[in-house]
Amino acid sequence: MTSYLKKLIVEPGSKVKLNEVDPSYHGDHDSHDAAMPEFQANLAKMDDLQYLMYAERKHSLLVVLQGLDAGGKDGVVRHVITGMNPAGVRVVGFKQPTAEEIAHDFLWRVHPHAPRKGEVVVFNRSHYEDVLVVRVHDLVSKPVWSERYELINDFEKLLAEQNGTTILKFFLYISKEEQLERFKQRLDDPARQWKISDSDYSERNYWDDYIAAFEDALEKTSKKHAPWFIIPANHKWFRNLAISQIIVETLNGLKMKTPAPTVDITAIRKQYHAAAEAMRDNNK
Ligand code: AMP
Ligand code: MG
Repeated sequence: MTSYLKKLIVEPGSKVKLNEVDPSYHGDHDSHDAAMPEFQANLAKMDDLQYLMYAERKHSLLVVLQGLDAGGKDGVVRHVITGMNPAGVRVVGFKQPTAEEIAHDFLWRVHPHAPRKGEVVVFNRSHYEDVLVVRVHDLVSKPVWSERYELINDFEKLLAEQNGTTILKFFLYISKEEQLERFKQRLDDPARQWKISDSDYSERNYWDDYIAAFEDALEKTSKKHAPWFIIPANHKWFRNLAISQIIVETLNGLKMKTPAPTVDITAIRKQYHAAAEAMRDNNK
């Protein structure tokens, strides 16, 4: 993996201290414009790789997006994921659970959305909410949420080992100042006011609790088969570039190949020539 991206991986078993990560980090480029050619090239590569995945139907990709409010999850879907053909990609958002969902175990609503072979699925929020918002607001007791990290690890292992799913998890990390700036943009721009929610500012009061919950989640659930990446996300262009680059390099690593045709190409070619000849005769 490209060297600057390696720094973003949460090494399995390592401690996570988010105050040591700079959310304004922007890698080797200095501006949106400077990063654009590389980003555009990545989008083209993602499209090719997703096409191969769909053709081969052997692997699948699950992308998990988590972050604080205004962290840019929707932006990643809109600017990065759209690099791929929508026919083979599904985006699933997880909101507050319904009464039916609450009446089940926390993975019940998630599992049916796991990607099938050949498919890319993006979770905009995910089962991680059940150790994030749920923990911060005591929606279940500590013994219950504490057990969920291992249950999540087992779940992701199941997807990876039994169904060939590659899992990439991105924590979009913005600073508290940047969040306020984005809230302001929402207030000032009528096209974005719909995004404002009552809880935006009250949730901000829980910033440190969320950071602690994220640190724990990243530490306990970053695995070789399902790594977490801490994406410095103050610069949207860097966020998009880094995520696209990680997806490209990961999919390249799968060494996918165009599958062999399922039909006898020589025989079909003969049929083609016969049809072409008949067409010529007809047109005489
Ligand atoms: P948004 O992504 O801005 O549309 O908001 C979705 C809301 O649903 C967020 O406030 C999440 O914290 C909340 N949410 C998602 N999953 C859960 C969950 N399992 N339990 C409680 N709240 C959740
Ligand atoms: Mg929100």
